[in-house]
Amino acid sequence: MTAKFPEYGDKPDENAQEINDYSTNVMAEKVLEKSLEDINKTLERMDKGTYGICRYCQKPINPKRLMARPTANSCIDCKTKLQEENE
Ligand SMILES: [Zn+2]
Repeated sequence: MTAKFPEYGDKPDENAQEINDYSTNVMAEKVLEKSLEDINKTLERMDKGTYGICRYCQKPINPKRLMARPTANSCIDCKTKLQEENE
């Protein structure tokens, strides 16, 4: 006589999947919240007339960079410098 637990094998997987989905949702939410924050800040800068100006060196940001990343608030030079400092 063998006791059968048909869900036994599936459940841990399902739980893992649930945790996985949850993490993905939390991550997505954080990314979206950050994006929203960036967009709001960008709109604010447009209002103030500082859009497209690097917040660090006050020079105009390359339009190509703005096209690729409309919420950019620093020029490539400063961004590169900051990233190097962070590493
Ligand atoms: Zn700059």
